[in-house]
Amino acid sequence: MLISSAHIQEGIRKLGAELTEIYAGRRIVVIPLLRGGFMFAADLIRNMDVDLQIEFLGAASYGEQTRSSGEVRLTLDTTLPLSGRDVLLVEDIVDTGLTLAYIQKLIKSRNPASLRTVVLLDKKARRQVDVEVYGCVFSIPDRFVFGYGLDSPGGYGRNLPDIVTLKD
Ligand code: 5GP
Repeated sequence: MLISSAHIQEGIRKLGAELTEIYAGRRIVVIPLLRGGFMFAADLIRNMDVDLQIEFLGAASYGEQTRSSGEVRLTLDTTLPLSGRDVLLVEDIVDTGLTLAYIQKLIKSRNPASLRTVVLLDKKARRQVDVEVYGCVFSIPDRFVFGYGLDSPGGYGRNLPDIVTLKD
């Protein structure tokens, strides 16, 4: 086990409180990036006392491997107009940064009033492109992880409450 459920919830509570202050009095759009970001987003928004709408974006880059292919595909798009809106993008993990770079560019092309990105996990050592990340709950080493919304190489394990890593 790399990060326990209790530890995850503690980190999310802090980030939720911070975002509550930042967005006080605003009506925002929260976009969990599917599939991995759904569990983090579900817990994060319950720790945010902010008027918010939910939209979903889906991106895939992994296939069955434990390394990013670098090729990002949009698998699901938003339905609300994002122009003039304050957008909070919620992602499970940033690795090479290619997925976030692609998605941030897409959202910015729709002229939001603001765009912030929060990620649960950051594998800084693997970054290939610079991406703007407002908040990261945990920095982790270069290990393949799953659980708490992230899948194992076979596509299972998203329902584990903790974040775990494969044995060497
Ligand atoms: P990037 O484009 O930054 O290289 O990769 C981001 C995407 O790759 C994430 O949205 C996630 O789906 C996947 N990913 C990166 N590292 C891991 C990992 O350790 N475990 C899992 N399950 N997915 C990962």
